Amino acid sequence: MSADPSQVALLRVQDLHVEFKSRRGNAMVLNGVDFEIRGGETLCVVGESGCGKSMTALALLRLIPSPPGRISHGRVLFQGEDLVAATEARMREVRGNRISMIFQEPMTSLNPVFTVGDQIGESLRLHAGLDAGAARKRSIEMLQQVGIPAPERRVDEYPHQLSGGMRQRVMIAMALACRPDILIADEPTTALDVTVQAQIFDLLRELQRDKGTAILFITHDMGAVAEMADRVMVMYAGRVIEQGTTAQVLSQPGHPYTRGLIDCLPELGSSLGAEAGERDDLAEIDGVVPSIWELGSGCAFRERCPHAMPRCATEVPPMFALDVASSPGAPHGAACWLHAEALEEATTP
Ligand code: SF4
Repeated sequence: MSADPSQVALLRVQDLHVEFKSRRGNAMVLNGVDFEIRGGETLCVVGESGCGKSMTALALLRLIPSPPGRISHGRVLFQGEDLVAATEARMREVRGNRISMIFQEPMTSLNPVFTVGDQIGESLRLHAGLDAGAARKRSIEMLQQVGIPAPERRVDEYPHQLSGGMRQRVMIAMALACRPDILIADEPTTALDVTVQAQIFDLLRELQRDKGTAILFITHDMGAVAEMADRVMVMYAGRVIEQGTTAQVLSQPGHPYTRGLIDCLPELGSSLGAEAGERDDLAEIDGVVPSIWELGSGCAFRERCPHAMPRCATEVPPMFALDVASSPGAPHGAACWLHAEALEEATTP
């Protein structure tokens, strides 16, 4: 956790909308997503499957399958340049070079017919202009950096010859080979056991400390959030419903959905205060995430929310700033009408 809040945003996402066309019509899978990432920080994006986390990552790199998908509105400003408007040639320069991504399951992302050395070296040849010998030398160094033993031998091996943990390390080596400004890690440890997961977390933190890389860490696991994040962004049904520092979001969640996610993790919930600590059963959020075809108007969480009120069915709640004083650049905010009620009560004489 090495963020320097004084740094300006490396990436600023503004009002991003992604829609998919189908025979049923157009579905909005991202609906006005706003956030920023600063140099050297880890922003965790959290939410259940289908909330838009991975779609956000793919949209940043313009990797949404098109058709049927498309970015219908918004901007992705990377160091001031709008990637939504960039040419495909420019995006090839950005991907794997300035912004890299590691995926959930390395076996589906690594090419089984090329050695790991060939695959790490490819981006070095393409983006850094290294010849084959220099790329191989650098690939061995990268394998060493990510903690793979005997890298001179492993560099000539194929993905199937490596364990799951080693393949994920190879993916990280590939993603970091060109020293990207931003690393997007999409559930990078889901397929790994807890010991290897802890090693991968340590490795990411160490590499971030050494290289100053910003990390966009996508997860559904609040435990991983507590361990990795400087700031947290919670998504639900294609919208950002809460943002703030890790301490703000985990200790004073402003959205009932975030509260539910935290309460689903007993160790974390019980360590956050008496309210959660009173329970000794395993909580769960009732209901399921609504289909993108059934969102209708209002707050998408209303069918599962114990606090829902009439306006929740008709008006989408805006993001309410909760704690501007303690983090003026990126205040803690939650998109929930409960905060409008609280504001109204506070201002009523
Ligand atoms: Fe619950 Fe209403 Fe807040 Fe949505 S806006 S989370 S339904 S109280």
